Amino acid sequence: MSTRQQAGAVVVHGGAGASREHEDGCVLAARRALAQLEANGDALDAAIAAVTALEDDGRFNAGSGSVLCLDGATVEMDASIMDTRGRLGAVACLQDVKNPVLLARAIADTPHWMLAGEGAQRFARAIGLPASPPLSERQRANHRKLLGRMAGSVPVMPGIDNSLFARTWNYKTPLELPQGSACDTVGAVVRGADGHFAVACSTGGSAPSLLGRVGDSPIVGCGFYAGPDGAVAATGIGEHIVRHLLARTVYGWIADGMPLAQALQRGVDLFGPDIDVGLIAVSRSEAASCSNRDMPQARMMQR
Ligand code: ASP
Repeated sequence: MSTRQQAGAVVVHGGAGASREHEDGCVLAARRALAQLEANGDALDAAIAAVTALEDDGRFNAGSGSVLCLDGATVEMDASIMDTRGRLGAVACLQDVKNPVLLARAIADTPHWMLAGEGAQRFARAIGLPASPPLSERQRANHRKLLGRMAGSVPVMPGIDNSLFARTWNYKTPLELPQGSACDTVGAVVRGADGHFAVACSTGGSAPSLLGRVGDSPIVGCGFYAGPDGAVAATGIGEHIVRHLLARTVYGWIADGMPLAQALQRGVDLFGPDIDVGLIAVSRSEAASCSNRDMPQARMMQR
């Protein structure tokens, strides 16, 4: 989808490969972003409002819906924010924080651009961000489904033999496979009526993953990018996305004047058909999305 528009614009996604039945969650998130844009005109606040709503939804792989790590108990999350006012913040390998995107925003006001692991969690506690809610039955059921697929011979991560996860295991507890990849990050891009751009992303990471795994979502230029000509957010298998510096690559084509739909399609076409990938973007005049999978999404314009 692609639209020409000059006013404020919001595009939200719920992950490449996620069910479009959950699109109502994206619509709600886009409405929140638009309401925030009406309230103070700040594109970054609007992008964060959308991502916070998706983190709290519970059906997406972010915040309260994050996938479980292979041990079936740990949740590690990544998030990021960037805008054309110079704000850049990211968090990686974060445990037990309800809204990682709010922590990424807070990190942008520290001397650093990224915090990871225990230090990030301590900073979250220091500034009073709430802990994650208890694991839901939906999260546990998704994990059981994944273990079942890992016991089979079809690779759960394209190009990687399932047995490699057992051979490189780095948890304290043993891998318990029955006798035999989830990827649906959330993201939002916003164009403010003042011409500023912003992007926010949040993910529970890919499944399966080893402890300490970080994908593309908190890596600037890979999962997200914002510059004077637009903002881009990517979703899909981070191990593949980082090899193409996908968000910055697509942003470069937009800055060169390529129509938005064409730039997003070209970005998706960098990947083989077995790799889940999706992109959303806003430019000075357009707002669009593209994926080689089902991807719940919503796009709204300011009137
Ligand atoms: N890109 C995310 C990651 O690899 C997952 C996703 O977009 O679904 O961590």
